[in-house]
Amino acid sequence: MKYLTQQCKLILAIIQEFGHMTAEEVYREAVKAMPKIALGTVYRNLNEMAQDGRIRKIRVPDGPDRFDKTVSPHEHMICPKCGGVLDLEVKGLTECLKEAVGSDDFQYDLSVNACCAKCRAAQQ
Ligand SMILES: [Zn+2]
Ligand SMILES: [Zn+2]
Repeated sequence: MKYLTQQCKLILAIIQEFGHMTAEEVYREAVKAMPKIALGTVYRNLNEMAQDGRIRKIRVPDGPDRFDKTVSPHEHMICPKCGGVLDLEVKGLTECLKEAVGSDDFQYDLSVNACCAKCRAAQQ
């Protein structure tokens, strides 16, 4: 593993604490601890760490990418109302995929668009 700069350590700590975040959200937290950090630095570090497998990048349709502390395969639910990203556990999905693919050597990225519990409650 590569040597981590102070900026990387800070960004990693923020993601560990808050979970799924956009680069801008990470930046807003990061400047509190490191007022001189630039948004571009945050973007670059996030993408590098995603490539290194320290964090996971989640592509969100019609929205900014999110960065996730959980790198193991898991599903996401994206709320079209508030843009919230939640972890979603689909029991048996990996087994189904293994059977369909015919091997366990694969990666997938599944996002489900659905209103989150908070937005559903607000609608009632
Ligand atoms: Zn929502
Ligand atoms: Zn996640």
